[in-house]
Amino acid sequence: MNTQPSKPINFIDLKAQREYLGVKIDNAINNVVNSCAFVMGPQVREFEAQMAQFAGAKYTLSCANGTDAIALPLMAWGVGEGDAVFCPSFTFAATAEVIPWGGATGVFVDVLQDTYNMDPDHLVASIEKVIADGKLTPKVVIAVDLFGQPADYPKIRAICDKYGMKLISDSAQGFGCTLNGKHPIEWADCQTASFFPAKPLGCYGDGGAVITNSQEDWDLMDSLRVHGKAVAGDLAGKTFDHDPKYMNMRIGMNSRLDTIQAAVLIEKLAIFAEEIEKRNAIAAYYYEGLKDVCVAPVVIEGGVSNWAQYTIEVPNRDGLMAYLRENGVPSAAYYPIPMHVQGPYLGFENTGYGILPITEHKADVVMSLPMHPYLDKETQDYIIAKIKEFLVK
Ligand SMILES: *Cc1c(COP(=O)(O)O)cnc(C)c1O
Repeated sequence: MNTQPSKPINFIDLKAQREYLGVKIDNAINNVVNSCAFVMGPQVREFEAQMAQFAGAKYTLSCANGTDAIALPLMAWGVGEGDAVFCPSFTFAATAEVIPWGGATGVFVDVLQDTYNMDPDHLVASIEKVIADGKLTPKVVIAVDLFGQPADYPKIRAICDKYGMKLISDSAQGFGCTLNGKHPIEWADCQTASFFPAKPLGCYGDGGAVITNSQEDWDLMDSLRVHGKAVAGDLAGKTFDHDPKYMNMRIGMNSRLDTIQAAVLIEKLAIFAEEIEKRNAIAAYYYEGLKDVCVAPVVIEGGVSNWAQYTIEVPNRDGLMAYLRENGVPSAAYYPIPMHVQGPYLGFENTGYGILPITEHKADVVMSLPMHPYLDKETQDYIIAKIKEFLVK
């Protein structure tokens, strides 16, 4: 027992999933190639409908990546100059990056010690500060389901309602997570997902989606993802003596999901619920094996994580990562440098060291372990044993 597995240990094992899905993937891709409907083929609409159903929402709009998926609702709502958009600093850059695109100002919010997700009290304090300063109007909150754990949506929704703000759930990593049996779209105005290959629901390239219950937002974002094309709402009650296809009603972008990616995602979504269960069993096994030697983030009560990452906190993080590497165990530090101390983001509010103490502390101590639905117990036993060997010395 606890001898090194004969096969190399992967941080994420996309090959195992590809083998599990087998010929279904070959057929899905071949069908698209043979149909030559490479852009906006029927699989795109089919996948959008299935994704909406999975999330318990009315609509899904697919797009080119999980970054555009956050930008699209901000564009649709006209968020720009003079508007404040609140997001965590302990996240992947994309969450914050899209805020200045339209001219809005980002405001970084600290996270909770136990769940790593947005601290509702600090959110309120930051909103009040922006109001007191009188320069910006609080418009949108972007909550992140970090590492797959649902944020505290009931509290954050109530805060958004109180201040008349919109709520985006950045579920790029967290799509599939639930709180009290509901997906984040139950509380958010839009929930976004990324299909980057390493995310729990990844495709074979880049891809993303926005989930919404608003027909109006869906229409607007449908226009924005194709260069501001005229959509039903723009054409209603009007007649034209030319094809309205090349009428551009607003400044948009080109952000479509490739048909091949949609076809791959249809196959992956079909096994996604089963994969989330497997991920939860693997996370529980890590937790049991490691609970005496290190801290792991807590999933909010009533929440189910998709365990995009299994993360632990250790004081000598870099030492343990090096030790694991020597022993053939890959690991990663997400995220070692908080957004609010990085040069390009210093124009946001709440920037600089000392401002978000919990975020700054987490950045120094967190590391993530190999995690994917096909991780076997022997490999986990070995990883757990190596961690203990290092920590209990
Ligand atoms: C990956 C990620 C994104 C961006 O997704 P892409 O598909 O890579 O553009 C946004 N937010 C978070 C929290 C992410 O982890």
